[in-house]
Amino acid sequence: MRPESLFKLFAPVTSLPGVGPRLGKLVSTVAGDKVVDLLWHLPSGLIDRRYAPTIAEAVPGSIATLTVTVDSHAPPRTKRLPYRVACTDGTGRITLVFFHAKDDYIAKILPPGETRVISGKIEKFGEELQMAHPDHIVTLAERERIQSVEPVYPLTEGLSLRVVAKAVTAALERIPDLPEWQDPAFLRKNLFPAWADAVRSGHAPTNADDLSLATPTRRRLAYDELLANQLALALIRQNLRELKGRALNGDGQLRAKIETALPYRLTYSQSEAIGEILADMGKPFRMHRLLQGDVGSGKTVVAVLAMVGAVEAGAQATLLAPTEILARQHFATIEPLARAAGIEAALLTGRDKGKGRDSILSGIADGRIGIVIGTHALIEKDVEFHDLALAVIDEQHRFGVHQRLALGAKGRAVDVLVMTATPIPRTLTLTVYGDMEVSRLTEKPAGRLPVDTRTVALDRLDEVVDALRRALATKARVYWVCPLVEESEILDVAAVEERHAHLAKLFGNRVGMVHGRMKAAEKDRVMAAFVSGDIDILVATTVIEVGVDVPEASVMVIEHAERFGLAQLHQLRGRIGRGSAKSTCLLLYAHALSEAARQRLAILRETEDGFRIAEEDLRLRGAGELLGTRQSGLPEFRMADLVQHADLMEAARDDTRLILARDKDLEGPRGPALRALLYLFERDAAVRLLRGG
Ligand code: ADP
Ligand code: MG
Repeated sequence: MRPESLFKLFAPVTSLPGVGPRLGKLVSTVAGDKVVDLLWHLPSGLIDRRYAPTIAEAVPGSIATLTVTVDSHAPPRTKRLPYRVACTDGTGRITLVFFHAKDDYIAKILPPGETRVISGKIEKFGEELQMAHPDHIVTLAERERIQSVEPVYPLTEGLSLRVVAKAVTAALERIPDLPEWQDPAFLRKNLFPAWADAVRSGHAPTNADDLSLATPTRRRLAYDELLANQLALALIRQNLRELKGRALNGDGQLRAKIETALPYRLTYSQSEAIGEILADMGKPFRMHRLLQGDVGSGKTVVAVLAMVGAVEAGAQATLLAPTEILARQHFATIEPLARAAGIEAALLTGRDKGKGRDSILSGIADGRIGIVIGTHALIEKDVEFHDLALAVIDEQHRFGVHQRLALGAKGRAVDVLVMTATPIPRTLTLTVYGDMEVSRLTEKPAGRLPVDTRTVALDRLDEVVDALRRALATKARVYWVCPLVEESEILDVAAVEERHAHLAKLFGNRVGMVHGRMKAAEKDRVMAAFVSGDIDILVATTVIEVGVDVPEASVMVIEHAERFGLAQLHQLRGRIGRGSAKSTCLLLYAHALSEAARQRLAILRETEDGFRIAEEDLRLRGAGELLGTRQSGLPEFRMADLVQHADLMEAARDDTRLILARDKDLEGPRGPALRALLYLFERDAAVRLLRGG
């Protein structure tokens, strides 16, 4: 249960004065729907109203706070003209201008003869100084309140700064008295303020430097969030380790058959990863392991051997793929291998219906089928396993944690192996996979030639086509990728169709196309034709990005490469360079490349090392964008910036280790404060794993 002291912070924003249902919706879109979200909604700028000149001194264009005497009112003669109020201060005159104003309201706030303090932007029209719609009009007594620095918040249409500022002020008043969760020595060393002070001063910048992420205030808040993240992941991992598992120990006979059937020898890292996985599976604990390996590093065969290991031990295994294409491709690779070991493998996707599906389901339920490969159709309720013991999840970042759990729930103490080709920088691995053990495939299968990567201006398309013609003469197979157009699938498809038509004119029926809007059966047909070599050029959207494996493909053309992220370009390029032929990647770019885009393409030309590329991507783009979309599965940090606060990430991990080594159930003196921290950053699930949580 969340401690009572936090209740007020977790109330809806509509519980704040002045925030009704309509404004509440708008506040939710910019900050979040709870009061605490407003604490994290830090200013993005500031308005300095400390400049308080006389009218004669006031510099046009500046924001100024003036003390004036109201002189005369001039209501407009027609609706379209403004209401004008003349003011003086002994040094000069200024006219306040109001469009569409309510006359009685202006008469009330600016009574003639009285002194008022006004603040806003000074403008000059001809000889006349003006201030249109002053931001503030107050009496002398209130002067101090407005002649200060005002925070500026990110807003949205229909939401004014005044409303947000007022809501934030009300939220700040609800900050409870919480015990300090950080180590006092660490706070002193870093000059970190107390949490409540940090939040308050975060909302009260007095100069532009205060907005920097490098201030002790911002670093303190970032560190709190990172510690909450690390602690939560560590608690989940600690809990999983303690969960009862089952020891799966096969005799290795079936695995030996598979290894004999393979047309190649395993690389050193493949053998090592398989060793680590089988060792985990053999222990009476629940496995929770990540297999990280760059595109083409050969993760599939590692998964196969792990699954066969489960079957050897008398149980079943399943592999969950993110797309239909991938599920089919995995099945095509795995089924013959499984057969060589006498294991029945089946494919289950959303397209299986009726009798065919029923027969697969019964085979899964009675245990006849040892290995099941599929898409999320596997998670459906009526898919019941005889005895599922191992779930392999491919390309993890497309799946959420709950899908992992749903699959795990289909068996008894299911071991989980997650595979990802996204080479996540070390700092991010901590934030995303801190709850898993990691195996890495660090080398590529032997005999791979480096990909020759070149950048070519789009207006030299003719030369690209000539190069294709030469490549096709050597029986090369070609991917031609068209970019996403503003996230609109319809436009993507149009771009693909147009390019397809263009290339089909030149190369006839050697050209095929796949995109997200095609029927699955049609996609498969085209993919199959590309695999078999019936077509040599495949025009596609990024649907081919993940995992597609056609070793004969040796040319990749990426149109408008500047529109893709580095990680994505790396993934795409990973589709080639898989066979024995020399491969070429042509990155076509439009003119007027931005500096960042130019750097991205240069890095790609320079290296094929996914980890290096990921680090550069992080540096160039920032973590939020790293993997392109929200689908990335990266946690969203409110206070921490994974680039600028990378050092804090490591400190938080070390701190977490120390904390749990001393007090693994957070029951010691620092325990209540750390639990409050977890609740504050909404890591409730992790606290619930603790006794008395
Ligand atoms: P990814 O890690 O991207 O999923 P895959 O498992 O699809 O990679 O493997 C890529 C290609 O490398 C496949 O064609 C596979 O048959 C081949 N391969 C895997 N391991 C080896 C190896 N040890 N030696 C040679 N080729 C291998
Ligand atoms: Mg793969």
